[in-house]
Order: sequence, then structure tokens, then C-alpha cells
Amino acid sequence: MKDVFGKDVEYLKDKKLFLLDMDGTIYEENRLFEGTIEFLDKIRSIGGRYVFITNNSSRSVTAYIDKLNKMGIHADKEDFFTSAQATALHILKNYPDKNVFCMGTRSLIMELKEYGIHITDSVEDTEVLLIGYDSELTYEKLRKASQILQTKEVEYIATNPDKGCPVEFGLVPDCAAMCEMFYMITGKRPYYIGKPEPTMVNYVMEKYGNTKEETVIVGDRLYTDIKTGINAGVTSICVLTGEATLDDIINGDVKPEVTLDSIRDITKIL
Ligand SMILES: [Mg+2]
Repeated sequence: MKDVFGKDVEYLKDKKLFLLDMDGTIYEENRLFEGTIEFLDKIRSIGGRYVFITNNSSRSVTAYIDKLNKMGIHADKEDFFTSAQATALHILKNYPDKNVFCMGTRSLIMELKEYGIHITDSVEDTEVLLIGYDSELTYEKLRKASQILQTKEVEYIATNPDKGCPVEFGLVPDCAAMCEMFYMITGKRPYYIGKPEPTMVNYVMEKYGNTKEETVIVGDRLYTDIKTGINAGVTSICVLTGEATLDDIINGDVKPEVTLDSIRDITKIL
């Protein structure tokens, strides 16, 4: 079996851990792509594991489970890894017991609390400033985050480096666009956790005990999904069912290791 550029891709048979993007890869908005259920069944039948990874920190895992269940995919908590979870683990590992001011949704704050992270509302007590994709943003939060950045020495992190989040009419400001507001007045930018940083991939490999050689990331966006694979040193598969086109791959500088028309082609190889 060869990919769309004629590359021999039989070696994909040896992969065990499949990190899957969702929108544009297994579904489009609310329409499941044909072959998705067979693809997931196939991974399980060869003794592999799949994990859905997403940069969206505004929705909880429960909301994603509901969405996939409605589409006929059985999924539970263990099958997901969001930038919110990665952020929580990052904080626990690097800044345990520190007080975190979170400019994010109530859902993100609740998730962080479940991990035992200390959340504070007080500028004075803040030791870590965390910015998420905050669809409940208020000027009060912007003001406090600005004050923290200008009056204190804190760790400055953000859940995901996406500039815009797709909605019906186009894009609304996502996490990085919000952080750029602070850059314009302070000259400071955060350390980003989500795709294309390798952090999420590293955490999932560590959690399930898989090596880089056994791991593959599948997605439709070159600058997030595929770049993540490159940054993490794992195989990347670009499927042409979402954002990236063949022209983008030929003319762009982010090159997937493997390019296939859809996930149905991966099923055939496995
Ligand atoms: Mg996608």
C-alpha cells in the first residue's frame, strides 16, 4: 500500500498508539465520516489504542463524550486528551502547590480543581498565570491578568496556541489571540501547551507506556496536527478530508510523513 505521493506505508502496521484529531479527521461538525467506526474497531482489533486529542480548552471531556456518543461512537474519559488536561498535568509536574490565576471558562477552572490545583482570584496570591480559550471573557479578567503581568514575577502559560476558533461565520478569537492583547501592552508571551507543542503527545505516550516508534498522530491541519507529530518525533499522517489540500502540502513547508485521502485508507493498511 502506498500513500498519495507513492510512498510505501506498510510500516504503519506496527503502530500501536493512534492520536486522533477530531474535526476534519473523523467528522465534520456534526457529520461522522464514513468509515470512522470501522477504523476505530480495526485499531482495537489489532491490540492498539486510540486517543482523541484536542486543543479546545473551553469544552469539557464530558461534552466531547456526548457528541461522539450521539454520532454512534462509544467513547469514555480515557479515550480523550485535551489541552486542559495537558495543562493540568503540566502545572502539577512543574509548579505543584502554586496558586494559579486562570483566565478561562468555568469548565476549565473546574477541571483544574479536580486535579487538585489551587485556583486563586487574588492578584496578590498569584504565582502562575494561565490563559485558556475563554469564551466567558470579561474586562475584569483582562484587567487582573494585565495587572499580574505588570506587577509580579509569575510563570506565564497558556492552554493552546490557536489564533482563531472556527464558528458558523468564520473565526472568533481563540487563546493565542487573547494572549496577543497582553503582548501588545507588556511584550510578554506565554509558554503554550497544546498542539503543535509536543507536550500533549509526550504525556499520552508516557501515560500508556508507548514508544515514539509505536505512536502516530492523524489530523487534517498542517500547522497544528502535523507540526505536532514533527515536534514530538512521531509519525504524522495527514488526511485530506479537512483543512489541508494536496496543494498546501506540495507548496507548504510542513510536510506530513504520510498523506492519505481519508482514515479509510489507514484501515486498509492495518
Ligand atoms: Mg482538525
